[in-house]
Amino acid sequence: MNQKSDLIIIGGGVIGSSIAYHLLKDGFQGDITIFEKDPVYEFAATPRSAGGIRQLFTTEINVKISRYSLQKYKTFPEDMAVGGEKAKIDFKQRGYLFLAEHETLSELEKQAKLQQKYGVPSELLTPEELKNIIPEVNTHDLTGGLYCAEDGYLDPYSVMQGYVKKVKELGGQYVQDEIYSVNKEKGHVTGVVTKDGMIYSAPIVINSAGAWAQIISENSGYPLPIVPLKRQIIQYDIAEPLEKPLPLTVDPTGVYFRHEGDSLITGYSEKVKPGIDFTWKRSFFEETLWPILANRVPNFERAKIISGWAGMYSHNTKDQNAIIGEHPELKGYYLACGFSGHGMQQAPAVGQGLAELIINGRYETINLSPLKFERFKTNELVIEGAVV
Ligand SMILES: Cc1cc2nc3c(=O)[nH]c(=O)nc-3n(C[C@H](O)[C@H](O)[C@H](O)COP(=O)(O)OP(=O)(O)OC[C@H]3O[C@@H](n4cnc5c(N)ncnc54)[C@H](O)[C@@H]3O)c2cc1C
Repeated sequence: MNQKSDLIIIGGGVIGSSIAYHLLKDGFQGDITIFEKDPVYEFAATPRSAGGIRQLFTTEINVKISRYSLQKYKTFPEDMAVGGEKAKIDFKQRGYLFLAEHETLSELEKQAKLQQKYGVPSELLTPEELKNIIPEVNTHDLTGGLYCAEDGYLDPYSVMQGYVKKVKELGGQYVQDEIYSVNKEKGHVTGVVTKDGMIYSAPIVINSAGAWAQIISENSGYPLPIVPLKRQIIQYDIAEPLEKPLPLTVDPTGVYFRHEGDSLITGYSEKVKPGIDFTWKRSFFEETLWPILANRVPNFERAKIISGWAGMYSHNTKDQNAIIGEHPELKGYYLACGFSGHGMQQAPAVGQGLAELIINGRYETINLSPLKFERFKTNELVIEGAVV
């Protein structure tokens, strides 16, 4: 292959592929090469995600990003059609629901007001109203919930493949190789070097390597506040089906659950030591998740594990939000990583924003600059109150 490109993207998961798509759609002039070390994406976060798409955030920037992205997911099948074939992403707008125990309704009201200011149709529900959404839910310890009917969940792998196919159609090139670091000269990025020492040159390099983004950046002399954090998901069946399809529901304990076909999936951000680890344990369900699930919905008492998996959050240790934009110390080196648990629902807006920044030198659709790397030095952290 040509060892020169006009733009290199490291990591072809949902974020890297969305960026490539938006650059090509918006008329980026030049060749785009996406380096992906694992063409089947076995360990990437994207296919291991729960696919939750919500607008229920507590910071202006995250509300705007997720509102924009949700609208894009609605037209995704048509937008990503290749050769007349639509991209099927199984987007189920069944709602997203945070159940509240200790929070007062006034705190939820404040969150809802911010969301509604940006057009999000979020609603505060009383314990009685929660029963309209999940008739079987146990509300004895709940003060209410925050609900958005427009939200829901989708198939993350299909979203990623939708972008990949469209990128290829538009002329982007995926190359299977593992990048070790970025190269530089006089404060400007000059390309990348692979694990085997091959050099590829480009004046623009984007690091969207997910949980591995920090390793590449550190190898290049630009460490990032990102660690890989293991997150487990367990799929289970229940003996007595629920009356209605579930929204993606988050219990006050942080345990979340939703339907996956006729079965269910559940997960929880347990405290773990940072590090790559793809093991999952039945005992995680039996000891940690199941007691909470069975208390919340009596039908979950008779549950049978079908399978499970673990995936890696690209966890930003400073404020659990994405790091987006050009690195202040290296011209042409762009970051799109650290998405923690909300990269799926941010991918369309981030792709659009970075494409604008690279092509036009400024954000146009949404100002993503609150997520710039510099915020760690100026102490302008983006503290998000609704992290799952
Ligand atoms: C269990 C779990 C549940 C989640 N649930 C949700 C949810 O409900 N909603 C939501 O919005 N988000 C969720 N997330 C987060 C979401 O999945 C991620 O934020 C998102 O998928 C990140 O996409 P990415 O492209 O940055 O990373 P990835 O999908 O990990 O892609 C990065 C790619 O970079 C490649 N790569 C790495 N290093 C190199 C290298 N050196 N050279 C070349 N290629 C490299 C990898 O192979 C990988 O394919 C969840 C994550 C997990 C783990």
